[in-house]
Amino acid sequence: MRHPRLRALISSRLVLLVLLTIALVSLGSNLLVNRQFDHYMEEQQRAKAADVAEHLSAQYDAVTGGWSLDYVHGMGMLALYDGYLIKLSDAEGTLLWDAQDHDMALCHDMMATITARMQEERPSLDGGFESHRYELRQGDTLVGYLDVSYYAPYALSEQDFRFITALNRVLVVTGALALLVALVVGVLLARGIARPVARIAQATEQIAEGRYGTRLAGDVRARELAELTTAVNQMAAALEEQDELRRRLTSDVAHELRTPVANLSSYLELMAAGVMEPTHERLQRCHAELQRLAALIADLERLQRAEGGDLVLEREEVNLLSLAREVVVGFDVQLEERGLSVRVEGVPVVVYADANRIRQVLANLVSNAIKYSDAQGVVRLLVEDAGSMGVVHVADQGMGVPPEEREHIFERLYRTDASRARSTGGAGLGLAIVRALVEAHGGTVGVEGNEHGGSTFTVMLPKEAPGTEA
Ligand code: ADP
Repeated sequence: MRHPRLRALISSRLVLLVLLTIALVSLGSNLLVNRQFDHYMEEQQRAKAADVAEHLSAQYDAVTGGWSLDYVHGMGMLALYDGYLIKLSDAEGTLLWDAQDHDMALCHDMMATITARMQEERPSLDGGFESHRYELRQGDTLVGYLDVSYYAPYALSEQDFRFITALNRVLVVTGALALLVALVVGVLLARGIARPVARIAQATEQIAEGRYGTRLAGDVRARELAELTTAVNQMAAALEEQDELRRRLTSDVAHELRTPVANLSSYLELMAAGVMEPTHERLQRCHAELQRLAALIADLERLQRAEGGDLVLEREEVNLLSLAREVVVGFDVQLEERGLSVRVEGVPVVVYADANRIRQVLANLVSNAIKYSDAQGVVRLLVEDAGSMGVVHVADQGMGVPPEEREHIFERLYRTDASRARSTGGAGLGLAIVRALVEAHGGTVGVEGNEHGGSTFTVMLPKEAPGTEA
């Protein structure tokens, strides 16, 4: 299904809302005004007729028993222009003044105009001229009768209609303006929201295509969009780092394998061709190369196991001080060969951990301390109690790790330039294994420089297994 654009969606909803509001307001006001207006006009018409009757009653002269017909005539003509046809009779019913008698043509003209106008403008009223009879009295005495004809239920003058038309026009223009404003505001508003969303969508698409260097500018106004932008940027950065690591891992593994394999293959080729004698020493060198390969493969496997989620820890109570002593014993020969001395100090601290894995951690750190130390140096292991954590520092007086490389040396296959130059270096997997094992225990590992110019690695392990404390 093709989705409509966000911008179209927002602005169309807004326009719909305005249309609905306009419709509701005009419907409501029309209903209300029309009903009230009709009612008001009817009342007005009736009141006017009654008013004429009252005025005329006053014109009867009780002393002479006659009417001031001049006045009646004036009043009758005025009323006629307003659409009221009057007829005055005395108390006996004798006709005294009749608008129709007076000016038949004008009366007919008037009636025809009003009827035509009303039937055209208000056909639903279905009105017509109606006559109403009023008794004219002075006090209790009946002095005459007045018949008033007018268009019922009500008639509107030309001016009235002009006013109504103007009012309707204002309503229409206001509605159209409101619609226009809603459209403009809607488009602007929608653009403000849709643009950054479209940019984010585009960026994530690029990231999905593998362009991990893509980053979004953080110039959005809404907090949610800013959070989304940050999340996308963080995701891209994490993917970029992972991608970089993966590339390096592949090329480094290839690099690490190439040298021993090339050495072995040339030796064996020459010996097989009879060019080189398979002496004891040469065979031993071949064996050493093979051992390097086997060690690398073993390290890769160990790392895979330590980093994979399926690492099972066989936890028991482990005394870190005793373990540290045990570990250094295994390095006696190497230490002696390199002319190094070792010291294990500190307090006995018991942690709940997998002894074999922690032994591996300490062995890797001590092995590095030896590899990267010069003769006459001291390798020092210090065990400390830090409340909920057991701490082991492994310090050497060797070449140290430059500060800018400290965060990288725990990555797989990472080696500092200085160590690459040395013949003693390994493949760069030892510290990655250390970190994976320590983190599997819920602990941390880090490195700092020390006053001897060497480095101090610090392992912190929780005394309790994570999640078991009360
Ligand atoms: P490697 O097999 O190369 O020793 P590691 O993962 O154990 O691999 O160490 C990674 C890199 O960290 C080493 O190549 C070295 O550059 C640096 N490093 C590790 N331990 C030390 C140390 N004690 N002193 C100086 N540099 C060290």
